[in-house]
Amino acid sequence: MRLSLARAELALRQHPRVLSGAALTLLLGSAVTAFGVAPLTPIDTTPVSTRIITEAMAVPDLTPQSLALEAYTLALHRNDVTRAGDTADSLLARLGISDLEAAAFLRRDRTAQRILTGRTGKRVQATSVAGPSGQLQRLVVRGPALDSARALTHFSRVTLTREAGGFSIQEEDVALGVEHRSGAGTIQSSLFAAADQAGLPDSVTIQMAEIFGSDIDFRRELRKGDTFAVVYESLSADGEPLTWGVNTGRVLSARFVNDGHTLDAVWFQDGDQRGGYYSADGKSKARVFLASPLAFSRVSSGFSMRFHPILKQWRAHLGVDYAAPTGTPVRSVGDGTVEFAGTQNGYGNVVIVRHGGEHSTVYAHLSRIGVRAGQKVAQGDTLGGVGSTGWATGPHLHFEFKQGGRQVDPIKVARSSEAVTLGSAALARFRDLASSAQDHLVGALASAGAVAQME
Ligand SMILES: [Zn+2]
Repeated sequence: MRLSLARAELALRQHPRVLSGAALTLLLGSAVTAFGVAPLTPIDTTPVSTRIITEAMAVPDLTPQSLALEAYTLALHRNDVTRAGDTADSLLARLGISDLEAAAFLRRDRTAQRILTGRTGKRVQATSVAGPSGQLQRLVVRGPALDSARALTHFSRVTLTREAGGFSIQEEDVALGVEHRSGAGTIQSSLFAAADQAGLPDSVTIQMAEIFGSDIDFRRELRKGDTFAVVYESLSADGEPLTWGVNTGRVLSARFVNDGHTLDAVWFQDGDQRGGYYSADGKSKARVFLASPLAFSRVSSGFSMRFHPILKQWRAHLGVDYAAPTGTPVRSVGDGTVEFAGTQNGYGNVVIVRHGGEHSTVYAHLSRIGVRAGQKVAQGDTLGGVGSTGWATGPHLHFEFKQGGRQVDPIKVARSSEAVTLGSAALARFRDLASSAQDHLVGALASAGAVAQME
């Protein structure tokens, strides 16, 4: 027989004289705590005020109640996530369930088999009978949408239920919950440190750095006192955070005040056109060239320069050096054709990409090369990995941007490269969106105490 906590509670509430409501809550509350692992709740940035109330309470004789409790079977709830190499047995063991029938079903049923195959990190919620039998009653598994085209809007929910003669199983795609959240901060040491303090997920910080990547070189130009605010979508599955990689939705709008200059970006999708980020005046943030050949990440942004040039003539070299761990992906800053991919003396493993016009880019000291001469590449395509081949004493990327054979500053080229401007009809729609987005950002900055930094 299975009895949920709710029924146990009901049974106890029928004897109010024996047990006060407070003690009941206490008793049931501690039963839940003892047996269950509390589900993770989404990060809530609203301040919570807590008040502790202490009151004297006569402690009744609890013996009849504990006896009464023992007469009922409590349902246990446990949570876990699937891991690489999981089997039906290892998963059930982690959930504290020993149930041969359930294990056999998980191995045999084709829908159930999908729980343990494909993407790991699916959230598993098990309900089982307390006590020696430990029988599985219900298993709910939430993971990536079955239809991968809906990965950002849906999740899959598999529900396995014990029935009279065995188990029933149901699998469906369900819409993700979408919530708008905001965060703001002031740079003291690094972007990630400030974003951590603001409680922003890494994926939001990285999106922000990419959105403003053609305006600000986040590795070289951040100033102490720079401020930012961001409004983003936060996704949830049945009210729980996603555990399988798509942790956060899209950044909807962002503001960055760098060295006194205010930059805004607002996500805008006009009808069925491809969406993108636009500045407050309706200019696309996308550029012909990216400012940096390395994607912004927690690891590469905090990596210090631990090398020095080996040869004197190398010291006088032109270009930009990015220190980063060996293997960090190196991406093409623009569309083009691979002109050279191979080894050259001081450069070590090097890739040279020719872009339209007179532009070419050089990526040197690579640990590996992932492209061939003559190959077409698109902006953002991986060319190879950071290394220390050639004249380098430590892993870093040596990057050159040439225009008509002369060296130019990559961030300057990126900033001046052409941007798409919205047409007048779209611009009118965009302006409405942008002004409400800006109100949001100002509110976020104000609540973070960063308003004094604004223009
Ligand atoms: Zn260099």
